Amino acid sequence: MENVIHLALAGNPNAGKTTLFNFLTGARQHVGNYPGITVEQKEGCCIHDDFGLSIVDLPGTYSLTAYSAEELVARDYLVNNNPDVVINVVDASNLERNLYLTSQFLELGTPLIIALNMVDVAESRGFVIDAEKLSELIGVPVVPIVARSGKGVNALLDQVVTMVRDKKQTEPILLRYGSDIDQVLTQITPVITEHGLLTSTYPARWVGVKLLENDKQIISIAQEEQPEITQQLLDQCEKVATHLKTTAGVYPESVVADHRYGFIKSILRQNVVTQKFVGDRLYTSDRIDKIVTHRFLGPLIMAAVLFGLYYFTFTFSGSLVGAFESTFAFLSSTANNLLPDGPIKSMVISGIIDGVGGVMGFVPIIMFMFFGIAILEDSGYLARVAFMMDRIFHTFGLHGSSVMPFIVSGGIAGGCAVPGVMATRTLRSPRERLATLLTVPFMNCGAKLPVLTLIIGAFFADHQAVYMFFATLLAWMVALCAAKFLRLTVLRGESTPFVMELPPYRFPTFRGLLIHTWERTWQYMKKAGTVILGISILLWAMMTYPSLPESQVAKFEQQHQEIATSYQKTDGEQSEQAYEMALQELQSQEAMTRLRHSLAGRIGLAMENLTQLAGIDWRTNIALLGGFAAKEVIISTLGTAYSLGEVDPEESTPLKVRLAEDPNWNPVVALAVLVFIMFYAPCFVTVVCIAKESGSWKWAFFSIGFNTTLAFLMAVGIFQLGTMLA
Ligand code: GDP
Ligand code: MG
Repeated sequence: MENVIHLALAGNPNAGKTTLFNFLTGARQHVGNYPGITVEQKEGCCIHDDFGLSIVDLPGTYSLTAYSAEELVARDYLVNNNPDVVINVVDASNLERNLYLTSQFLELGTPLIIALNMVDVAESRGFVIDAEKLSELIGVPVVPIVARSGKGVNALLDQVVTMVRDKKQTEPILLRYGSDIDQVLTQITPVITEHGLLTSTYPARWVGVKLLENDKQIISIAQEEQPEITQQLLDQCEKVATHLKTTAGVYPESVVADHRYGFIKSILRQNVVTQKFVGDRLYTSDRIDKIVTHRFLGPLIMAAVLFGLYYFTFTFSGSLVGAFESTFAFLSSTANNLLPDGPIKSMVISGIIDGVGGVMGFVPIIMFMFFGIAILEDSGYLARVAFMMDRIFHTFGLHGSSVMPFIVSGGIAGGCAVPGVMATRTLRSPRERLATLLTVPFMNCGAKLPVLTLIIGAFFADHQAVYMFFATLLAWMVALCAAKFLRLTVLRGESTPFVMELPPYRFPTFRGLLIHTWERTWQYMKKAGTVILGISILLWAMMTYPSLPESQVAKFEQQHQEIATSYQKTDGEQSEQAYEMALQELQSQEAMTRLRHSLAGRIGLAMENLTQLAGIDWRTNIALLGGFAAKEVIISTLGTAYSLGEVDPEESTPLKVRLAEDPNWNPVVALAVLVFIMFYAPCFVTVVCIAKESGSWKWAFFSIGFNTTLAFLMAVGIFQLGTMLA
């Protein structure tokens, strides 16, 4: 083998890149229907003729602008790694929209070969595509293939080898963008060439187009390299932008996009595509869509499907949840028997097993949920849900692609904001993406559900379903209104049109579903497991230390002695029960004093000054503080705080009853706490995720501050109003 060819696969989501990649490299890899899955680069290799091919599967993109993470990953890879050949995988059954990306490769002068994939699907729909004609018109090789069966793949690789052997150069093609933009381009391109602004990596005219398209990444690199020239060029761009806005009411970027589509249309019109059978024949997918996205039937079907998903999840995960619970109960009792009394034992049981166990307990539910969602995703149904919700979301400044993250985060019940935040990767506009990832934590995730159930069960037991229903409704309303508020203030800006088209329905493969489910479940276990472990230990320590000073401990011991002696003195006259009660009272007092003395207790007490405005007491404050680590922690912390000094755990009063009987609690307080828990700071893991996905800790801190303030104001309002009325 004499030579290695570096090859990159690029194309729209669902064009078949991963399928081709798997066929070439034989690597096992997920084949999915959801844009955003292949954000990492997958690499592999194979041999053809005398060449070793090293292949990278790039994330699917509709465009090469810098709107989304995928687009940046793909573009950066192309310019920084300079692959010898880029195979642009194109869905032949959807040629016009796929060629939009192609047109941008052509502008960039990428060494391109087009793999005209899914010709089988195109043929079944009666389309015949003249590959030679297309190749002739756009000036790069076009090879028809069927990635699923491998048909045509050899010919494709022959083309790759030929291109490298002949050292063919691909010249960037020049598109026309209309008189206004063309004119300014002819002015700025020579300036860019003259000063060599980014021209070592990009064609000069391309840089000009990007400046006009307001491409944040290119603008910032240019500003770094040559601030003065860049500013001068940007001023010129600004002028034409204002001109276009006032005369035609459009932005330069949409003019550029329109002309790219125009270029594609003009090519396709030249007998590249012919239709064998014409008439009113509808494809199966379109026929299904007539019903599924119907104005009235659509939402009904959607509600039924979502209800089915949750019904499926909760029905079938029940026994597994039980198995997980008994495993952790077993671990707990084993640790109790094996370890000597002391801080280590307390940490292992209260800190590690209870904390991590609480989170792991959700794994079965998560797994079933992800399996159900994988079916909806791989079959193409979720794209329809997004499609239907797009209109409503638009009014609130969000995007059709925001729907999925909301649903994943618990829009109906019991999701998780972590995958929800990650799912915002499908959004192209950074502002819409931020608005979405800042508001998805308002949904009732799986960790909040048990907490809400607890409080509703304690105070509104007669109307549980109704309260739960309104909690869900309220979550959506608050999330949408908050999004609107953000889009009117800190995230002001244009809405982008909904670009995700409806992919055809496909039968998901069972293997694909399993891999999909496992990947996500594992991610949940890994992420939650590691972070929760650390935080549980931290929280345990905060509720345990600093321990009571010697003098106080001695005082309690002395009281213990006194009770015991007085019991012995009376010589059994006093009933055993009274003795037990006195002992219990003392132990409870001691534990409460310990908790007040601990760091967490002190913080809770200090916070009470403020939180009493919403009727929230110091012990609840500790739980809410713990809830920042993970919302499940609210239950376990409340449990600890309210059941301290419990002597006989077998006869313990349920937390629900304790809350209902506590003088500090009443239905109004419960409502205030309920709303506060629903909307205050996202849990720690989500916050880290927000920082990672938004690329800055600024937004992570913003979400903590914004959500907590909003939640607190709502809670105070409810408490004050409720108390006044009651
Ligand atoms: P990617 O998003 O570009 O990586 O696309 P995938 O490789 O995940 O493919 C999306 C779907 O198209 C999968 O369900 C594939 O099985 C299917 N697919 C890919 N290539 C072909 C093809 O040539 N013919 C047909 N009928 N289906 C294909
Ligand atoms: Mg893929």
